[in-house]
Amino acid sequence: MYNSTIIDIKKETEDTYRFFSEIEDVKNFDFKAGQFVSFMLPLDEKKGRKGMRHYSIASSPAGNVLEFIINKVPGGKGTEYLFEEAKIGTQFTIKGPLGKFLLPDKIMHDLCMVCTGTGIAPFRSMINHIYNTNIPHKEIYLIFGTQKKEDLLYHQEILALEKKHKSFHYKVALSREEYDGYRGYVHPLYQQIFDGKKQGHFFFCGMKNMIVEGRDWLLEKGYERKNIRYELYG
Ligand SMILES: Cc1cc2nc3c(=O)[nH]c(=O)nc-3n(C[C@H](O)[C@H](O)[C@H](O)COP(=O)(O)OP(=O)(O)OC[C@H]3O[C@@H](n4cnc5c(N)ncnc54)[C@H](O)[C@@H]3O)c2cc1C
Repeated sequence: MYNSTIIDIKKETEDTYRFFSEIEDVKNFDFKAGQFVSFMLPLDEKKGRKGMRHYSIASSPAGNVLEFIINKVPGGKGTEYLFEEAKIGTQFTIKGPLGKFLLPDKIMHDLCMVCTGTGIAPFRSMINHIYNTNIPHKEIYLIFGTQKKEDLLYHQEILALEKKHKSFHYKVALSREEYDGYRGYVHPLYQQIFDGKKQGHFFFCGMKNMIVEGRDWLLEKGYERKNIRYELYG
């Protein structure tokens, strides 16, 4: 358990904010890219507001400030607290790091990271970690799905990363907006790359339906279960 203090909050979209939390008493918070922590929020349990909520770390390992990207869930007690009561200086305990949603020890194949919404958090951490620390890798594909352009997260930052690194490819799927790019769900965007390839490290993060659909297609195509990892948000 660590004490943490919110040191900054930045609005990313109308209902998604970036929270920056400083961990007390450590110079470096020791975690692996892809992991999450549990926030122990001071919710009133008598009113049915149990206090523990999990959030993936969106920043890469370095120092003692962690970044999170959090979406306000309508009627959600934890996010109601974070968006309406928490502010710079607010303190709460965090538990962790937790989780096994990690890069392979050795990256032997192309990486394919598929997410919707705030499911981008662990991938931002992993991708920055790979480039910041020069981890040997092949191609990296980030497939991001959301409803509308205005919901894209870290969009400019990721475009800049794509420009900088030849091995990094960013593809967007918008399900509810006509625009000059791909309209629909995430799946066709990686299926057209990996159909027939047979090798790849696959990561899915977000809601259950998206993950199940992706996993089932890969298994049907003969990809190995051990190379398909997922983190379920709800
Ligand atoms: C490992 C892990 C990592 C996570 N990382 C992140 C993250 O980086 N960013 C982030 O925003 N969230 C993340 N989540 C989801 C987060 O833990 C909470 O579930 C979410 O913030 C809602 O909490 P709440 O207290 O506001 O809602 P609750 O009061 O717990 O739930 C209210 C209602 O909303 C539904 N609900 C719960 N979660 C969601 C959701 N995510 N989307 C839509 N409906 C939901 C519930 O079924 C319930 O009906 C993660 C979850 C897990 C398991």
